[in-house]
Amino acid sequence: MLIVKKFGGSSVANAERIKHVAQTIVNSYKEGNQVVVVLSAQGDTTDELIEKAHEINPHAPKREMDMLLATGEQQSVALMAMAINALGYPVISLNAFQCKIISTSTYGNARIKDISTERIVNELEKKNIVIITGFQGVNRHLDVTTLGRGGSDTSAVALAAKLHADLCEIYTDVDGVYTADPRIVKNARKLDEITYDEMLELASLGAKVLHNRSVELAKKYNVNLVVRSSMTDAEGTVVKEETKVEKMLVNGVAVDKDVARISLVGLKDEPGTAFKIFSLLSKEKISVDIILQSIGRSNTKDISFTVAQGDLETAIEVLNANQARLGFESLSYNPDVAKVSIVGAGMATNAGVASMLFEATYDAGVNINMISTSEIKISLLVEEKDADRAAIAIHDKFMTHTMDINK
Ligand code: ASP
Ligand code: MG
Repeated sequence: MLIVKKFGGSSVANAERIKHVAQTIVNSYKEGNQVVVVLSAQGDTTDELIEKAHEINPHAPKREMDMLLATGEQQSVALMAMAINALGYPVISLNAFQCKIISTSTYGNARIKDISTERIVNELEKKNIVIITGFQGVNRHLDVTTLGRGGSDTSAVALAAKLHADLCEIYTDVDGVYTADPRIVKNARKLDEITYDEMLELASLGAKVLHNRSVELAKKYNVNLVVRSSMTDAEGTVVKEETKVEKMLVNGVAVDKDVARISLVGLKDEPGTAFKIFSLLSKEKISVDIILQSIGRSNTKDISFTVAQGDLETAIEVLNANQARLGFESLSYNPDVAKVSIVGAGMATNAGVASMLFEATYDAGVNINMISTSEIKISLLVEEKDADRAAIAIHDKFMTHTMDINK
């Protein structure tokens, strides 16, 4: 088998952990597999590098940030190769430049465009274990780029797709994908399987198990993906197109506190108003999530929407700067809100999910500010202080129910 294994920062945080992972890799190689390994930077290295940069220049050029951040992953791969060499096995480390991981030019958030697998295949044929830097790319100017925080998952899945790997294993510090964040919801449990679509929703909802784009890629190229622990041999969670068990009504409850609400009051109730607002924001590369528009009354209407907390300041600035053109009376905002969402492939074909959800929040005494739905997801905007309580109540309500379905 050709296996791509990705290890996150905590799995390679120190010498001891690196040696442990080296042994895991070697064991798989000894079973006769071709093994390609993708690594993140050690522990908090990326955060520390960002801090270092800010001490010197808070507005550091993005290109130079990527030059700096890419060094974290380069340390990891070299150290891992040394550890495997010490165990007496053939190994080579490669960076994005050497693997020709070609990306777009957007520093800090580049997308992989192509990978030329020649060098990697060559090294595998020479019986080497190949250790590759995650998170990095090179653009067409041959400058170093990075793929966004958590981007090593995407490097791994892209490599697995391109190499037609039999399996892509994402090793992390939890033993799989959970029905909710176990730190918030104590009785959250590990899922054996989850669909790409559900995982995609969960990933974009801020459940930080997998980088969003990695799931997109896995779905597109039908990559055989498993999330599992680097500390234990536990089975992990398989991410795939269709799950075997009957579709779960709700598979996950996610909380995203990195949300802020903006409301524009007293807008003209005429065609083009929404377009003006959201095209303005999109020009600033601010993505808007839940949108709520009131019914028009006396020729005015209100529009509320949510943005990531980091975009709040810029959003307010551009909106206020364009107040006359957009024609709103007042703008208000609230950074202390959170999004609580449920995700489940079974929702598409089951009535009554929304009413169960609202019953749970009602029982918990949580007020809902906004609601948005898709085929397999419902999101609620609530006060941040209520978010955890809502998540626990919702999880309780659905998980007892879901268990019944699967009996
Ligand atoms: N080291 C990078 C980060 O912290 C990439 C990754 O870990 O996936 O975001
Ligand atoms: Mg990660």
